[in-house]
Amino acid sequence: MNEDVRAMQPRDLSAFPRVALAQLPTPLTALPRLSAHLGGPTLYVKRDDCTGLATGGNKARKLEFLLGDALRSGADTVITCGATQSNHARQTAAAAAALGLACELVLQDRLETGDIEYNASANVLIDRLCGATIHAVGRRDDVMQAMERRRLELEAQGRKAYVIPTGGSTPVGSLGYVAAAGELLQQARASSLHIDRIVHAGSSSGTQAGLLTGLALAREDIPVLAFSVGLPRQEQEDRVFSLACQTAALLGITAIHRDRVVANSDFVGAGYARPTPEMVEAVRLVARLEGLLLDPVYTGKAMAGLLHLIEQRQLVSGMHVVFLHTGGSTALNAYRSVFDR
Ligand SMILES: *Cc1c(COP(=O)(O)O)cnc(C)c1O
Repeated sequence: MNEDVRAMQPRDLSAFPRVALAQLPTPLTALPRLSAHLGGPTLYVKRDDCTGLATGGNKARKLEFLLGDALRSGADTVITCGATQSNHARQTAAAAAALGLACELVLQDRLETGDIEYNASANVLIDRLCGATIHAVGRRDDVMQAMERRRLELEAQGRKAYVIPTGGSTPVGSLGYVAAAGELLQQARASSLHIDRIVHAGSSSGTQAGLLTGLALAREDIPVLAFSVGLPRQEQEDRVFSLACQTAALLGITAIHRDRVVANSDFVGAGYARPTPEMVEAVRLVARLEGLLLDPVYTGKAMAGLLHLIEQRQLVSGMHVVFLHTGGSTALNAYRSVFDR
């Protein structure tokens, strides 16, 4: 066999170190009252808000592979970053605690409102409870540099830190969503559900890149639409595509086609983590009809987008749409005043 051919032999997911951290499989359930209320497609929710790790969310799946890699490297500490109310940082703090690793978080105050609830409650409270050390930085600071500086300081003390970039969105982290795609397909098959569309909130890109790669691996072409919560459409799609290509390379499979990457940035509002009236409406509607909690930064905005597509009849009766709930409702308490108004 020549080198090129061998390089194209797909690597099984089991070839990668992985630690069991998430409660899997997460439930796939119907949203009957929301579907009836909207009179459009039949809606389902994939409950990745129920993965565990101090309240759940999509980062648990990525962390299974990232921390598998960290343990293999002999790390005693994990360093990661995020916005002040980062769900990724909170799940990393919980995972590190569960594995007996030290955890340091570089948290960036991107809003700079000085709001005490935003700066100390919800995810931040949990970070502290789990024993993480927090390094608070401002909007203009370079978080990657801050993490690297801290890694070197620890190294000088004889420690070994594993650095996880924003959102855990590396090719290794994305493997969590390659696996999730397989899990979802298996659940759909078991209940004879034909999925017409998967919809979710997208930010650092690992979720969509992993899902699209996992679907390709299973030779399924279900469209995946991600509502961006920050970047403009073109930039978001480019980022997802680039990460999907790297993830495919890691697995030794052919990369997905660029056309498969679809983002929508129409529901971002004024910017990342800045509330919109549509988000508030969507969070209220889903809570009142289904008792299901969304979040102000990610899933609330994605659901606002989904509601709009249904209103515009781009998604219609007879279709089966899965909303991938990526978590985040823990942050609701940090946004109390937004919902009180
Ligand atoms: C991180 C996060 C996302 C975005 O996932 P990416 O893989 O970063 O695109 C969506 N929803 C919630 C609740 C998150 O914490």
